[in-house]
Amino acid sequence: ENRFRLPHLTDIFPDAPTIPSTFCLKMRTPVTGDFADWYPSDEKWHGYINNSDRVLLKVIHYSSPTSAGAECIDPDCTWVEQWVHRAGPREEIYFKPEEVKAAIVTCGGLCPGLNDVIRQVVITLEIYGVKKIVGIPFGYRGFSDNELTEMPLSRKVVQNVHLSGGSLLGVSRGGPGISEIVDSMEERGINMLFVLGGNGTHAGANAIHNECRKRRLKVAVVGVPKTIDNDILLMDKTFGFDTAVEEAQRAINSAYIEAHSAYHGIGIVKLMGRSSGFIAMHASLASGQIDICLIPEVPFHLHGPHGVLRHLKYLIETKGSAVVCVAEGAGQNFVEQTNARDASGNTVLGDIGVHLQQETKKYFKEIGVPADVKYIDPTYMIRACRANASDGILCTVLGQNAVHGAFAGYSGITVGICNTHYIYFPIPEVISYPRAVDPNSRMWHRCLTSTGQPDFV
Ligand code: ATP
Ligand code: MG
Repeated sequence: ENRFRLPHLTDIFPDAPTIPSTFCLKMRTPVTGDFADWYPSDEKWHGYINNSDRVLLKVIHYSSPTSAGAECIDPDCTWVEQWVHRAGPREEIYFKPEEVKAAIVTCGGLCPGLNDVIRQVVITLEIYGVKKIVGIPFGYRGFSDNELTEMPLSRKVVQNVHLSGGSLLGVSRGGPGISEIVDSMEERGINMLFVLGGNGTHAGANAIHNECRKRRLKVAVVGVPKTIDNDILLMDKTFGFDTAVEEAQRAINSAYIEAHSAYHGIGIVKLMGRSSGFIAMHASLASGQIDICLIPEVPFHLHGPHGVLRHLKYLIETKGSAVVCVAEGAGQNFVEQTNARDASGNTVLGDIGVHLQQETKKYFKEIGVPADVKYIDPTYMIRACRANASDGILCTVLGQNAVHGAFAGYSGITVGICNTHYIYFPIPEVISYPRAVDPNSRMWHRCLTSTGQPDFV
């Protein structure tokens, strides 16, 4: 009984039916019925993915509600089977390559890897045999601004674009309404649209997909989630996140050296994370140099016996220096709310980093303890970086799969990685709200163990 047995899927999920009972995330195809034209795909992909291949969404079963992490994810400890569609090339495709005009658009803020995805989308389209590939300049705005002409794309144009950060096509916020975008697509004859962007961009992509359906256009709209914050639901991670965590190490290490070399030095590093603290948490875990990590999901006090400032005093007294890592969306209750919004309607956040720096200086002055406070905000330097090797691979796979998804006839979908497998999601499933760090998760607890910080409430 107790000897080692090699685990087998049938042991782990004895009740799992061979046909999924809850194929919850239904895929959508453009205008079913009207265009029942399927074409054989050329033998270029070294094998095909069957349409009914699926990946299990949740792979952990908590045997008790008291197991760490169970209380938030699975309150009743009932294991609900949910499967998602496996991404990749299909044997039958829904578009004739010579009839395709594909467009790529990048919206929102910058993120490492955008050029890698653009490059791979173009290359994969060319392998399918698509001749008409264009880039829409400066986000959705490029659909309405007559000054902005579409950029012809080919392997030759994109060959080396991944060697630098940013987006070859440019990005923007705000822009035209959905029906104006679809009018423009109709005019240009675009029947495949690849949309690289965050939640806002994906809401737009889904609306474009719905509008195309309404107009009964045979158009495939496929998203590639771009969020450096890693805040897309159900996905292991999004491209750019790894690079951001890696690049943040340089800022954290500089803050550490500054703090460590000064008498009573305190370093503060602000990292990205508007509503989710994944970058701050992972960067803190990776560096081992952070004493206090503050994220939007976990409320904290600055003042008082259990506040951040009192703990900083303790750190200065006991180890002579301290380094704080704060996510940009943390402690928004402390900073002045301007009610300002950017062109896309996103709230402009108050600067928690500057506030923390000022309050720390004020506090140490008040208690008469000298402190040398230095603040580093590497945000724009990180966003503009070139993707690292692991993100480079992720971008390559996502770019290829986006094209395979469009050729398979899916629309209103986005690509992602889930439990190490590459999959397609219907857009609404992943953008209904941002994925957040679960304060009861093992990862956050590991972060607390690593920093040694107490609860600040
Ligand atoms: P980031 O993570 O950098 O913020 P994002 O995609 O969320 O990326 P936004 O600036 O919010 O960036 O949105 C990008 C584009 O999507 C803009 O052109 C905006 O007009 C459009 N957009 C945003 N929200 C919606 C929505 N709900 N419906 C349609 N379009 C939207
Ligand atoms: Mg956004």
